[in-house]
Amino acid sequence: MRAYLGVVLAVWACVGGAQRSSDPNDIPSNMNRPIMDSSKLPDIPLGNPESMKTDTLAEPLDEEDFNYELPMSDAIASHSAFDPIFMAGLFEGDIQLASESDLASILLGGPRQRSGIADQHKRWPNARIPYVISNSFDKLGRATIATAIKNFQQLTCIRFVARTSETDYVHFIKGDGCSSSVGRVGGGQAISIGMGCGYVGIVMHEIMHAVGFWHEHSRPDRDKHISIKWANIKPNMEYNFHAYTWEKVKSFGISYDVGSIMHYGYTAFSKDGNNTIEPRRNQKGVEMGQREDLSNSDKKKINAMYCKGTPVGVSTSPSKFCDDTNGYCDEWALLGECKKNPVFMEVSCCLSCRKAKQNDVLGCRDQEKYCSLWSKKGECTSNSNYMALKCKKSCGLCPKSRRNLPPSELIPFVSTLT
Ligand SMILES: [Zn+2]
Repeated sequence: MRAYLGVVLAVWACVGGAQRSSDPNDIPSNMNRPIMDSSKLPDIPLGNPESMKTDTLAEPLDEEDFNYELPMSDAIASHSAFDPIFMAGLFEGDIQLASESDLASILLGGPRQRSGIADQHKRWPNARIPYVISNSFDKLGRATIATAIKNFQQLTCIRFVARTSETDYVHFIKGDGCSSSVGRVGGGQAISIGMGCGYVGIVMHEIMHAVGFWHEHSRPDRDKHISIKWANIKPNMEYNFHAYTWEKVKSFGISYDVGSIMHYGYTAFSKDGNNTIEPRRNQKGVEMGQREDLSNSDKKKINAMYCKGTPVGVSTSPSKFCDDTNGYCDEWALLGECKKNPVFMEVSCCLSCRKAKQNDVLGCRDQEKYCSLWSKKGECTSNSNYMALKCKKSCGLCPKSRRNLPPSELIPFVSTLT
């Protein structure tokens, strides 16, 4: 298979790659790719979904994880020539594929060509991504993942929620290298944060794959913005520089961005350390291959995919995307954490804090219509935790001084109250 692969990829590189490289304004298409049946695909690992079955889960990320102060060295991957995203040795370094037919679809086109992120079914409904996390991460590993999630939630409308019974979810796992599927694939899907991947920027890169984004350099219009140095690429690795069609990806009208956290660096898959990618224009302050943070374009793309095109800035407003991402939010809010720990709570428990604030301002009240009945049946005592949360008024837990506030102190947001 490998010998055949070599021939196929050599043909692909000569026919497709060389033509692109000689014509910087040409937008690549399927037309010049060789025809190959799916039984003769490149012999590269697709991922290791079995590893999730034997993994033991830990408790969801908690306040301590979100508040842990990481040293700077754990936030940003080294800017050396080595990029952790290549350690897993998967397609394009870190992309998990479900099957060989997916690989065929990507490299050769065909009936499944439309199954990329342009496909609504691969997106996460309501921008909510249920997650579980392996117990193999130590405190620092959990904090690194928590920080990446926090950054995502501060910059976009994506929300991570601890999985309860959801069918589709991501599973943070300490696998071999760093890797992820692209978009929602159905069922549990691994986001591997293995040895050497423990940087916030790397975790954000992998999360962005799971959210639904391919590498930036594989955009159909990439040849207008970067030059691929085909001669410097390791033999038989040319397929990692494949460009997709617009059927496979969507730009959302956002320009190509060499500073994307999803862009390869200069020496990706280099055979000798020489550049394999060079930007056609140097942009001041833009670093190709950065693994530090979402670029402005990254934020715009994510928000365009999930937030009805709401511009960056507006989309990060808590009033627009106020939500809870932790199953304990309502209890924490009840315990006063919104005031004691506002930074964490604003990001992770916005909805519960807003409700708590409403209760403060509007007056203590019942949130369920059967509160009075339950109270009469003794539930305030026998089921005190739930009743203290939902039936304050009926259980006599309302502080008298908070009633009868003047209307000028009422805040306008009332739609989440039931
Ligand atoms: Zn990647």
